[in-house]
Parts: sequence; structure tokens; C-alpha cells
Amino acid sequence: MECCAPKAPPFDGQAAYGELLKQCSFGPRNPGSEGHRVCGEYLAGRLRELTDEVVEQRFTHRDSASGDSFELTNYIGIVNPKQGKRVLLAAHWDTRPRADQDPDPANREKPILGANDGASGVSVLLDLARMFKKTRPAVGVDIVFFDGEDYGREGPGGKLGDYFLGSQYFARHLGPYRPEYGILLDMVGDKDLSIPLEANSLRAAPLVMEKIWKAARLLNVPAFKQAQGPAVSDDHIPLLIAGIPVVDLIDFDYPRWHTLGDTPEATSPASLEAVGRVVALVVYSEK
Ligand code: ZN
Repeated sequence: MECCAPKAPPFDGQAAYGELLKQCSFGPRNPGSEGHRVCGEYLAGRLRELTDEVVEQRFTHRDSASGDSFELTNYIGIVNPKQGKRVLLAAHWDTRPRADQDPDPANREKPILGANDGASGVSVLLDLARMFKKTRPAVGVDIVFFDGEDYGREGPGGKLGDYFLGSQYFARHLGPYRPEYGILLDMVGDKDLSIPLEANSLRAAPLVMEKIWKAARLLNVPAFKQAQGPAVSDDHIPLLIAGIPVVDLIDFDYPRWHTLGDTPEATSPASLEAVGRVVALVVYSEK
């Protein structure tokens, strides 16, 4: 029997799903596209409504293959800015410019909608922002939407430097900012959700991982598996290198990954809610 078990306010899976649909309504959101521009404005507006301070981190990236330049933006919503103890919650908001895993070769240069790979993590964080505004957590929380996660090319000519553009930029411009730890959400909307212990996180941030899985056990959320999953390259890597322990919550077992089939039908409010409840409990457990 645990005394005074921590509690979080209710997470609204339907509201989060509404945020997922809203992002998808802008179409593909790859850097340089109209959908990217409009969605960026939308996200900045939502963070201004829901958080205390918003920082827009703008930068330019030059594609190493095509030579084209793109404007990219990380959106940062700050909750309880005066609190010294801080938790970082992050997701990427951009979507992949090419469906290079699509079964139909004719589709492989077309941009994806990114309902799961893009919108899902952001949608969970937006409902958490709504929760934090209504019921203040004891700690400070920084909600970061990274741009340019999924820009890079696979295979010959592809450079790892063209991936994780936003998190790399963020990690290079930390200044004195040092959150206690971070949680990254990526591909957390799959209807058939299964989140294993991502191997890079387990190696570099085991105590944070234990915190999260403890919350999942308390809440009886079966999507969080005790089994170790594959090592995934994602936005947590630049932060881990910078010395911030960040756990990547990712269900990489998603057959629609980087295909035109990554649409809302493959995702569910229940999956978003499962992840949102666990992350909320972690945050509200902090004193
Ligand atoms: Zn992706």
C-alpha cells in the first residue's frame, strides 16, 4: 500500500485527437510547404493561449543534397517560468517530405500526412499544456515542438546531419538551461500502441525510464511494455549528447511508417490518452 499516491488531473484523449486532426487538416507539414507554414502559426497561437511564455527559435537549414535553404522553427511553451526545477517535454511537429517506405514506388517522393509520425506527440503535449494551465504542476515544464526531425534522406547521399535539425539546434543553444530530465514523444498515436524500453534511452537515462514505467504501472497502462525495444535515432540523441537525460517514448512497430498511409485512421484517442495520462502522472509526481 503506497501512502499518498500522486495524482494527475484527467487527460482528454478526444481533445488530443482533435489536435491531431487539426494538424492533419493543414496537409503535409514538411519544411518549405504551405502546411508547414500554417501549422507553425497554429502551434505558436496554441502555446500562447496555454502557456506562460512562448519562445520561437528560428533558424535556416541548407539541404546538403539539393542546396535549397529552409526556414525552420522550434516552438517552446514555458510553464511556471520562475521555477528552478524543470522538466522538458518534446515532440517533433514537422512531417516527412517523402514517403520513401511507401509500397507503391510512384508515391515515394510525395510528402506524408504524418498523423502518427508528427502530429501524435504534439497533440498529447497540447492537451498536457491545457492541463498545466488549469492545474499548475509544482515544477516548471518546457514544452518543445522540434522542427526538421524527419527531413533527412536515407541511403547513399543521405546525411545524418539532415535529420533532427531542430533538436540539434536546440542542443547547441542551451545556454545555462538544464532541465532535470526530458521525455520525448514520437509515434505515440498508433491504434495498436506498444511502447517498449527504447534502447538508447535505457542506456543513457535509466532512472527517468524507471520513473515513467512506474507511473504506467500505477495507472495500469498496458501499452508500456517491460521489454527492451530497438535503439532508435531520434530527437533525444542531441540532448543525451548535451548531458540531458531524455527518454524517447516511441512505438516503432508501425507498418505505415513513412508511407502515405500514415493518416488519422491508423491512430486513436485512446492511445493518445494512455500516453498523456502516464506523462501527466510523472510531471505531477514531482515536488
Ligand atoms: Zn519519421
